[in-house]
Order: sequence, then C-alpha cells, then structure tokens
Amino acid sequence: MTICEATPTTGADGASGDQGFEAPVGRAAGAGLVGLELSDADRSEKFARMRAGELGSVHSWELVTAVDGPGTRMTIFLSGCPLRCLYCHNPDTMAMRNGEPVEASELLLRIKRYRRIFKNSGGGITLSGGEVLMQPAFAATLLRGAKEMGIHTTIDTSGFLGAACTDEMLADIDLVLLDVKSGDPETYRKVTGRALEPTLKFGRRLAEFGTEIWLRFVLVPGLTDDPANVETIAEYAATLPTVSRVEVLPFHQMGKDKWESLGIPYELGDTQPPTNAEVDRVRDQFRAKGLTVY
Ligand code: SF4
Repeated sequence: MTICEATPTTGADGASGDQGFEAPVGRAAGAGLVGLELSDADRSEKFARMRAGELGSVHSWELVTAVDGPGTRMTIFLSGCPLRCLYCHNPDTMAMRNGEPVEASELLLRIKRYRRIFKNSGGGITLSGGEVLMQPAFAATLLRGAKEMGIHTTIDTSGFLGAACTDEMLADIDLVLLDVKSGDPETYRKVTGRALEPTLKFGRRLAEFGTEIWLRFVLVPGLTDDPANVETIAEYAATLPTVSRVEVLPFHQMGKDKWESLGIPYELGDTQPPTNAEVDRVRDQFRAKGLTVY
C-alpha cells in the first residue's frame, strides 16, 4: 500500500444488505483454488494465469467514502509488498501467499454492480495493498475493465515498483495516491528497508504523463518529522505540476495488534501520535510551497 491509512477488513463498511455487497474475499469465496493441494501442473497454470492478469492474490476489499480518492470507492487490497514499513498498518498484506486467489472477471462483475454509486458520488475504484504494482498484470486487467465501464480509477502505491507500470496501464489510471514516506534517502531506508529513488522517479514520470497525484506522507514523531526531511518532500512535490493535493497523515497505533498477532517485532510500540501543533507545522511546510494540503 502504500500508506495503509485505510485498514483492510473482512467486512465492507457500509457495504452490506441493500447494496448487495458480499463478504469481501471471504476465505470461502475465492476462485476455486483455496484449500486445494495444487499439482506442479496446476501451480504452473495458476502462475501463468497470474502473469496474464486473469488471476490475482487479494487480501480484501471494502466500500469507503472520503478516503482513498474522491467519492464513494471500492478499495481493493492486493496482497504482497516489497517494502517493510515500520509503521505498516496492514502487515498481513505484506506476503502475497497470504492473499486469496480471485478471478479478475469476478471482481469486475462486482465492480460493475456499483457503477451507479460511483457515478452519483463521483467515486470509483482504488487498487491498494500491499503494493498494487506487485501484480501489474492483474491490476492492468482491473483498470482496463473499469475504464471500459466508465469508472474512475485510482491506485495507491509507494511507487517503488513504478517501473512495472506500463504506459498502457498509466493511460487507464485517473489518479495516483503516491506515498512518499521520507524525503531523505537514509530515513526512507530506515522506514521502509528500501531505496527512495524509484518513488521519486515514478512521481516525475506521472507528472510528465499528466496523471493527477495526491501525495501522501505519514508523519511519525522521531522518525519522519525532521523539518529538513519534510522540506525535501515539499520541494519535490512542488516540482510536480500534477500534484493536486498533499495529505499529511498523523501516525497512529492502529496496526500494532496485527504485528503482535503475526509475531513480527514492532519497533514503534512506544511512539506517540504527533500533536496537533506538529501536524500543523508540517502542513504549513507544504503550504509554503503553494501546495493544497489536507
Ligand atoms: S509495508 Fe507495504 S503495505 Fe505496509 S505501509 Fe509499507 S508500502 Fe504499505
């Protein structure tokens, strides 16, 4: 994901009953492969279908409003992520093997049911994760299918795998939520375990392509809050003409229990959320560059 500000759940908020929104990627609602012992031939067919974009590994989905893009959105959380962010709210999405196999065609049929809701609210679909670009062929199939239905499309990405996003795929993306986790390469590596430059490069490519960007930054006291670090991101954002908003997201401890239940050491157990004054200071740093900030 990404920022993982939204927390994947196994229940779709506001998405039941009369809207006919069924349980998201229920353990028993996969594509018929769950629980089966796969032979080598089955396994290779499965991977071939994943490479072809027909089958994906999905953690969950939910219907949300006013997050992950404009309007009411179906946010789909794909499994697998190359980053290991210290503050990840969804560590259960990091491993692709933990997702459920889902047919792109099935998912597109579900998306189709919400066309009117998307149209009336100015919403659409958001592909999140995990990292959406870990499964570029599957994402491309969903994005193409959504655009053919006239549905607004967003991806929520760290940009680390931006090279996996083809120009054809970019043409099917209306908005990118670009999660820039740090402006300082050392801090970025400390936060994510990976290099910063691929993200910066992807942002520049999006701007050249004309793709709208909402740049997102998680403010973590003692980790990403250094004014010089924030300034670097603000300067970068100001160079991208298609950045239409910046979202400063205060760190919180909502993911802590998941780390503990997965048995993974969680390093930010003692970190407090930033104060309102700290959040205001950071937002003002972005505003000083002429950016629209939330
Ligand atoms: S580890 Fe991956 S899924 Fe978690 S916050 Fe980082 S980019 Fe998002």
